[in-house]
Amino acid sequence: MIMIDWGAFPRVELGTFPTPLRELKNAGAALGGGRRLFVKRDDLTGIVLGGNKVRKLEFLLADAVAKGCDTIITAGGAQSNHAAITAACCNRLGLKSILVLLKRGETGQKGNLLLNRIQGADVRFVDSDSMGDIYPAMDAVAGEVSAAGGKPYIVPVGGSTPLGALGYVLGMEELFAQAKAQKLRFDHIVCCAGSGGTFAGVVLGTALYSPATRVTGISISKDLSGQASIYKLIRETADLIRADVGLKEDDVVLKQYCGKGYAVPSAEGNDAIGKMAAWEGLFLDPVYTGKTFAGLLDLNDKRYFPEKSSILFMHTGGAATLFAIAME
Ligand SMILES: *Cc1c(COP(=O)(O)O)cnc(C)c1O
Repeated sequence: MIMIDWGAFPRVELGTFPTPLRELKNAGAALGGGRRLFVKRDDLTGIVLGGNKVRKLEFLLADAVAKGCDTIITAGGAQSNHAAITAACCNRLGLKSILVLLKRGETGQKGNLLLNRIQGADVRFVDSDSMGDIYPAMDAVAGEVSAAGGKPYIVPVGGSTPLGALGYVLGMEELFAQAKAQKLRFDHIVCCAGSGGTFAGVVLGTALYSPATRVTGISISKDLSGQASIYKLIRETADLIRADVGLKEDDVVLKQYCGKGYAVPSAEGNDAIGKMAAWEGLFLDPVYTGKTFAGLLDLNDKRYFPEKSSILFMHTGGAATLFAIAME
């Protein structure tokens, strides 16, 4: 196995790790055919209401601190989990943060916007519904910070850079160590793909630590990331840690379950949220994990997972938006 020199990458401790790994017996039984379903509870990473962005930010914010930056600028949709978690992590580390959010989908003081208000986050809305407009807006804010004598650090949407994806390579090291201790093996991992950094890290980390396990990404947007951009991110992340595991573009398996659009709830996603809550007392969200679980259920109906296979569902968080985005 390729050994990674984790000491070469500065990292700040922000999360509570390892997150739990456990079996979902009722949901697994519903899949039929003797299949077993497990969940990795990255909704319980221990800051804000939890979620996948914490693993990425441990590397990204350490990099910002190492470079002497004092103000973190990041961006996302109005209800961005990533933005709210970034602001909270910055508060913990004594860094300033500025959140540049798309105005489309603004919900007043609900969900993550409520959390942002409570934690005193500096939110700047961009009056647009296109992620394309968010980068010039972040650059303008960075210029403003520099002019005032600060040192800005831009974290792209979702923190999906090679350093961010590294968080999920380390997350897979954690997962497969847990699996080994519990004498489990997974034939398949199902993981959400939004901006793509989580999925990229999961694909690369799985190739490193459990090459026989297959990974399927469930896409919940039509334009945030695709097979080519995720493959590029995997290559860049592999270069960073000097781990050439020989992945090819076709190893990036993405299935589209976005429905009408990013952050627009789908009937299938909502149905999957209800099923998971009823079966397991486990709550998913309408933007990411509900649609991801809907994808898992649909693929299972189409016999995508062989009988008796054991499947791991990555729970990436998102609970706050359940209280903001209408699900009817
Ligand atoms: C951001 C997010 C994702 C997607 O992760 P990416 O790394 O952006 O692909 C999945 N689930 C939740 C809850 C998120 O907040």
